[in-house]
Amino acid sequence: MNTINKIEEITDKCIKCGFCESVCPTLPAFKYNSIYGARGRVILAGYAVNHMDEPLKLDDSFYSCLDCFACENACPVGINAGVVSELLKESITEQKFNEKNPLAEMMKDAILKYENPLGLKDQCSQWSDGIEFDKSDTIILTGDMYQLMPYTRFINKARKYIDSAIVNSFSKIISKNINLITLSRHFYDKNLRIKMDYELKNIVYLLKKSGLKFDYLGQEEPYPGMFLYDLGYINEFKEYSKNIYKFLKSKNVKTIIAIDPHTYDLLKNKYPLFIRDFDINIVYYTDLINLNLKKSDEKITVQEPCHMVLHNNSYRAMDILNNISDVKLPDRNGKTTMCCGGPDELLYPEISYSISRKRYEDLKKTADKIVTVCPLCYNNLSYDDNVIDFSEFVRNLIIND
Ligand code: SF4
Ligand code: SF4
Repeated sequence: MNTINKIEEITDKCIKCGFCESVCPTLPAFKYNSIYGARGRVILAGYAVNHMDEPLKLDDSFYSCLDCFACENACPVGINAGVVSELLKESITEQKFNEKNPLAEMMKDAILKYENPLGLKDQCSQWSDGIEFDKSDTIILTGDMYQLMPYTRFINKARKYIDSAIVNSFSKIISKNINLITLSRHFYDKNLRIKMDYELKNIVYLLKKSGLKFDYLGQEEPYPGMFLYDLGYINEFKEYSKNIYKFLKSKNVKTIIAIDPHTYDLLKNKYPLFIRDFDINIVYYTDLINLNLKKSDEKITVQEPCHMVLHNNSYRAMDILNNISDVKLPDRNGKTTMCCGGPDELLYPEISYSISRKRYEDLKKTADKIVTVCPLCYNNLSYDDNVIDFSEFVRNLIIND
C-alpha cells in the first residue's frame, strides 16, 4: 500500500469527535487554530489526499506535530494523528504536495554528507575522552542526542531574533554549500555542554557500577538517522539505516544500549521495519541498572518521556525512582503524559517554548524537583536548577560511592 492509500485508510475512520484535541499539546500552543491540533491534522490529511491537484500549504501543520502519540489513547477509533503526520511528512518529502521545508532539507543534506544533522560528528565523542571501555560486542550508542542539545539551545536563542523567512533563505544557501553547516561547531551553550558531557559520563558510570561490560565506538560512532525519520525522509532513511546496520554488523555489534528514548525507539521499532533480519538486541540503559541505592528524602516529580511511555509502554525508570524517592506525579502522567515540546524546538521554537513552559509549570506545581529521563526533556524543561537528569539523580544516591 502506498503512502497516500495509508493516509486515506486511517483518515476515513475519523468520526471528527475531537477527543484527540483535548490532549494535543500543539493546539493551545497555536492558539487553538484547528489545523495545528490532532483532529485538524487528521481532517486536513484526508482532504489533502483527495485534492492533490490543489496548491495546499501543508508543511507547518504536520511538521509541528510532536509525534508524542498522546492523541492515540484519546481516540475512540484508535487513530494516531502522529502517524498521520509522519505519513504526510513522508509525502511532502516525496514531493507529492507542496514545497519542502528548507530547514528540514538542510538537516537531511547534513546527515547524508556528515552523518550528523549539524555536521558535528567529530565533536560528538569528545565527552568520552579519558574513559576506558571494554572490548565487547555490547556497545552504548548515544545517538548524539545529549551532545546536540547545547547547539540546538544556542540556535533556538538566536532564532528569537531572526524571522522565519530569513531562516529559510539561510537554510537554502547552506543546503547548496553544505560544508557551511560545520561552522555550527562554534555556536553552542557552554554551560549546557558541560552539563550534557557530565550526564553522559554519569550514564557510563551507572552502567559500569552495575557490573556491565560494554564498548563505545568513539569517533566511529554512527548517527542512527533520527532526524531523517522524524522529518519524513523515509526513502533516504531506508538506505541510510541499512548502511548503519551494515557498519554495526562489521563491528560485530550484538547488543546496543541506547541512552535516550528517541534513539531507543528508532533502533528498536523503526530499524526492523526497513531491515529484514535485523538481529541487534536493543536495550535501554535504565533497564540494566542494578545498584544499591539509598532513599532520597526529597519529594520529586518526573517527566515521563513520550517515546518510552507512549511509544514503548516502558516504565522501568519510574520503577527505580519509586523505590528510592517520594514521587508525586503531575495530572498528566503515564499513558496521558504530556510532551515537553522538544521535537518542535528547531522548526517552531516559539511553539516549543509555549509547550515546555506549560509542562514545566504543571510539573513545578507537583514538586520542586523535576527528574527527566531524556536529554530533550532536560533541555526543554530546565528553567531552573532543580531540573535534573535521571542519571545524575541516581548517581547521587549510590551507597558507599
Ligand atoms: S479522536 Fe479520533 S475519531 Fe475523534 S476527531 Fe480525533 S482522530 Fe478523529
Ligand atoms: S502526536 Fe502529539 S502533537 Fe501530534 S497530533 Fe497527536 S497529540 Fe498532537
